[in-house]
Amino acid sequence: MSPASQAALSGAVREAVRGDQVYPHYQPIVELVSRDVVAVEALARWAHPCDGLIAPERFIPAAESGGFIGDLFFQMLRRVCVDGLKWRSPVQIAVNVSPHQFHDAGLADKILSVLDRTGFPPHRLEIEVTEGNPMLDWSRAAKIFQTLKAHGIRLALDDFGTGYANLGHLHMLPFDRVKIDRSFLQAILERAENRTIVRSIIALSRELGLSTIGEGVETVGQMDWLKEAGCELAQGHYFGFPLSAEAIEDLL
Ligand code: C2E
Ligand code: CA
Ligand code: CA
Repeated sequence: MSPASQAALSGAVREAVRGDQVYPHYQPIVELVSRDVVAVEALARWAHPCDGLIAPERFIPAAESGGFIGDLFFQMLRRVCVDGLKWRSPVQIAVNVSPHQFHDAGLADKILSVLDRTGFPPHRLEIEVTEGNPMLDWSRAAKIFQTLKAHGIRLALDDFGTGYANLGHLHMLPFDRVKIDRSFLQAILERAENRTIVRSIIALSRELGLSTIGEGVETVGQMDWLKEAGCELAQGHYFGFPLSAEAIEDLL
């Protein structure tokens, strides 16, 4: 993308965030044994007036490089709190935090203040942070995580197995859950090395007292394999696509 079109995209995304055009869709997270929906993940969508619904991979990088990913996050979080309080079922809601946001030392206090103002219970909120980014400043993140954790907010390490985190990070930070990246699940039945990696992630997580979520489950075969391997939770098109706040309520 040329610098001019990058700047235009960044300006358009900033306006979209201000104008309430960026909001969450929700994808179910299912307990594999009971098949109950125990949580949902909030995934950002941009309802563009001309181009329709735009996926986050097109606009999150612009929000990160444009320095307003924090505004986008808080826009999402406010909507999540309002939506979640309307649902009959008090499921947990996971929200994605970008590694860029850990530059903001006030991040934890700002999150807690949104929960306080909306009345959303902290134990229903889960924060997902991706390990797939070399930018994550783990020592800064640790301070923020400890504050969130002390208030009952859960923490998940996203896209595990693909990025730059190491076992030390898993142990060092107070995570509750590990999300196994969907690239491992895609060929889980075909590739023995994927099965070995996923089994090791599940075993390691269990040793550390963390639960595991298998991401990107699309078939019954993948689901059965994960359940057999001892993974507790799963997410993917097999269980449900990301849906609007109103549509997801019917599923809960
Ligand atoms: P993610 O956090 O790993 O979210 C899961 C992505 O996998 C979602 O894509 C979801 O729609 C997709 N997915 C779920 N199940 C399946 C499946 O069975 N098969 C396949 N092929 N895909 C599946 P989506 O919504 O396009 O989001 C892409 C990424 O954008 C997210 O990956 C996350 O990293 C980022 N993102 C989304 N919303 C936000 C946000 O509010 N803030 C930040 N910082 N990042 C966000
Ligand atoms: Ca995520
Ligand atoms: Ca993920």
